[in-house]
Amino acid sequence: MSRPPDPTNPLTSLRFDNRFTRLLPGDPLTENSRRQVFNACYSRVTPVRPVAPQLVAYSPETAALIDLDSAACTSPLFTRVFSGDLVLPGMDPHAACYGGHQFGNWAGQLGDGRAINLGETVNRRGEHWTLQLKGAGPTPYSRRADGLAVMRSSLREFLCSEAMHHLGVPTTRALSLILTGEMVERDMFYDGRPEEEPGAVVCRVAPSFLRFGNYELHAARGELEVLRRLADFTIRTLFPHLGEPSPVIYGQWFAEVCRTTAELMVHWLRVGFVHGVMNTDNLSILGLTIDYGPYGWLEDYDPLWTPNTTDAEGRRYCYGRQPTIAHWNLAQLANALHPLIGDPEPLEQGLTDYSRWFEEGWQATMAAKLGLVAFQAETDTTLTQDLLALLPAVETDMTLFYRHLADIPAGNADDRIAPAELAAPLMAAFYRPEQLTPTYLEQLGSWLGRYRQRLRHDGLVDAERKQRMHAVNPKYVLRNYLAQLAIDDIGAGDFSLTSELLDVLRHPYDEQPGRERFAEKRPEWARHRPGCSMLSCSS
Ligand code: AMP
Ligand code: MG
Repeated sequence: MSRPPDPTNPLTSLRFDNRFTRLLPGDPLTENSRRQVFNACYSRVTPVRPVAPQLVAYSPETAALIDLDSAACTSPLFTRVFSGDLVLPGMDPHAACYGGHQFGNWAGQLGDGRAINLGETVNRRGEHWTLQLKGAGPTPYSRRADGLAVMRSSLREFLCSEAMHHLGVPTTRALSLILTGEMVERDMFYDGRPEEEPGAVVCRVAPSFLRFGNYELHAARGELEVLRRLADFTIRTLFPHLGEPSPVIYGQWFAEVCRTTAELMVHWLRVGFVHGVMNTDNLSILGLTIDYGPYGWLEDYDPLWTPNTTDAEGRRYCYGRQPTIAHWNLAQLANALHPLIGDPEPLEQGLTDYSRWFEEGWQATMAAKLGLVAFQAETDTTLTQDLLALLPAVETDMTLFYRHLADIPAGNADDRIAPAELAAPLMAAFYRPEQLTPTYLEQLGSWLGRYRQRLRHDGLVDAERKQRMHAVNPKYVLRNYLAQLAIDDIGAGDFSLTSELLDVLRHPYDEQPGRERFAEKRPEWARHRPGCSMLSCSS
């Protein structure tokens, strides 16, 4: 294990420029004990060395971001470095200090409890990418937990990060999934029956892992000098186009966070993603999807659906509420930034604009999903509202519905097609044939009639419209049960489904003949199976 690294491996020539630790105040204590850390943005901490690390999968696209080729990724050195076994020269491992509002309540200090940033590598294009191990051992922020992660949740984070990227949804990326060789105890459903599960480490990659909660914690503690330094650091390194930090620029920065967050919410709704734990410590300052925990994908369209069992009662973070929650979270960020600006006006403006940006973005996205050239409020407001009321009336697979809607011909005004015949291309989307009553089919047929009329008004050729619709309505998403099948297989020592899913999800909008089984609706066995329809925060 302790042979010297091979100097020809591109890993050994990774360059590091650790701006976060160099430019921001750190915790003077280096002892790795759980504690409150004041007046500091991070604490230095060393990853725990794994017993027997084993590479399950890596993402070639994320590797390319940091100039690593497949030979480097399959080298023993890669597995050592990205499991926490070996810290490379130039790295500066640390855990970030942040707080957050959890389920609407201020929770105080949280911090990277099981994430260790290795450092910021600079690629050939001069871009900085922060490398972060999740599950590599405790930090001063681990509170009462162990700092570890299990394979089940790590696989879900690894695959979903990459799937989201290929769907065009802003996200942190995942470089690798590595089993540590150790077992980790988890009480998956908090029912007092803990079990041993294989431990794993994911290496995540992003320009920054800063969250709303980083700013909130310093503001809540009155650490205004640290808050100002962190804000200035953020603007200089991540928002340099805004110019030198000043009260006016802080306002413009907040507006940009509001805009990117609004765009992110539009994307989540477009693809049917439910984050599951939209606490302010899980919202990225860059508008990235971050912290994949008990997330899920809408199968049957239900705006109140949440995969997170911890939230089953209140459904605070259900699919349909995500844009409202993001606004609430932005309001907490605004409160935190207020002392820097003094004037509430630009912050209030940002929050008002958020709602407008979200609304405009959502309308444009709905138009695109329906294959309309542009959203025309007079007709399309009710057209989309009526559709979104129709979808939950019977169990309708959201992904399949939009995908197959592209097969509905615009037709002619004098067509006389029976509702059932008109709806035929959509049949694959329905879970329960017995729900397709004549009344329902009548309603669906009537909506399709209006839809076709609207399509004829645009006058696009069917084939062209289909192409446009297929570019925004994915065929392949990481259905909850697919991730679970890959988890089951890894448990049995078989990594092939993980690789295959990673590959399928690389082209989510393409037909990919021969891979249709990955685009099918959730099988009945998965309806109530834990991991497929219900997830807990235990990970
Ligand atoms: P989450 O909402 O899952 O992103 O986590 C909330 C907080 O709990 C964060 O500060 C995490 O770092 C921390 N946390 C979650 N799981 C663990 C764990 N197994 N060990 C240490 N800290 C954890
Ligand atoms: Mg988190």
